[in-house]
Amino acid sequence: MTAQLIDGKAVAARVRAEIKEEVTRLKAERGITPGLAVVRVGEDPASKIYVTGKKKAAEEVGFNSWEHHPDETITQDALLALVHRLNEDPAVHGILVQLPLPKHIDADAIIAAVKPEKDADGFHPMNAGNLLLGRPATRACTPYGVMRLLEEVGCNPAGKRAVVVGRSNIVGKPQALMLLQKDATVTVCHRKSDLPSEVAQADILVVAVGVPELVKGAWIKPGAVVIDVGMNRKADGKLVGDVEFAAASERASFITPVPGGVGPMTIAMLMKNTLEAAQRAGK
Ligand code: NAP
Repeated sequence: MTAQLIDGKAVAARVRAEIKEEVTRLKAERGITPGLAVVRVGEDPASKIYVTGKKKAAEEVGFNSWEHHPDETITQDALLALVHRLNEDPAVHGILVQLPLPKHIDADAIIAAVKPEKDADGFHPMNAGNLLLGRPATRACTPYGVMRLLEEVGCNPAGKRAVVVGRSNIVGKPQALMLLQKDATVTVCHRKSDLPSEVAQADILVVAVGVPELVKGAWIKPGAVVIDVGMNRKADGKLVGDVEFAAASERASFITPVPGGVGPMTIAMLMKNTLEAAQRAGK
């Protein structure tokens, strides 16, 4: 079997086009322009690239967007004060504090300070908890994007065995909950798991570990849908995922490439979360 590629770039472009249409409607019918405020602390080079991409996407779909860029010496109190100001600003519907934050800042406290209804990243404990409880919640963007990719290739998780490799708060755990909500039978793996035998059970495999090509193609169940969240830069500059792509493609029915799979979906779902926050705020 040779897997079909899941074109995340194309799906993300469709999601952004849908959002743009909704923004036009929201402006015309209710006079609301969604607003996304991005906070980037200090000079982390990767953060600069991510934030530039997010701002660009926001502008393209017709949002107002603002970048706040305090120096890396900003105190915790001053950063909290900035978050509080954005919380109270009615033009701001979504707030994103780009991680990582400098070591002297307690990132959990900053995330918790963002009003849950403006939490564009879906990282606030209230949103994470509501997802766990099966209640409406702003969803973490990357796993939310993965759910949309599954939908796009006609993969209904109901009754399927889903294996999620990685249990981070931003990808693995929320991914497992979203798949469970869609009635998959879900296994979550980590460093202590017997990966080859767990992966071999997966009809749907989502890998988010950050180790280049950790998951071998030979482990994959023939016909599985494989979603590779990993983004690892090799010494030669090449970007690779957490799955051995060429060998996995021989066994999977669908597979995401890296780059061009999950990556573009994360930003698109951030826009969707901000749009939904603006729609709620206007009610
Ligand atoms: P993370 O917080 O570092 O978590 C990694 C998870 O993988 C942990 O649960 C860890 O297990 C597990 N793990 C690590 N090595 C393992 C091994 N050898 N065997 C089994 N499990 C192992 O990472 P993350 O933030 O979730 O990110 C994961 C990857 O996704 C990274 O490559 C990151 O760049 C990428 N990512 C991409 C996007 C995107 O937009 N495409 C977004 C977010 C993340 P333990 O819990 O046991 O330590």
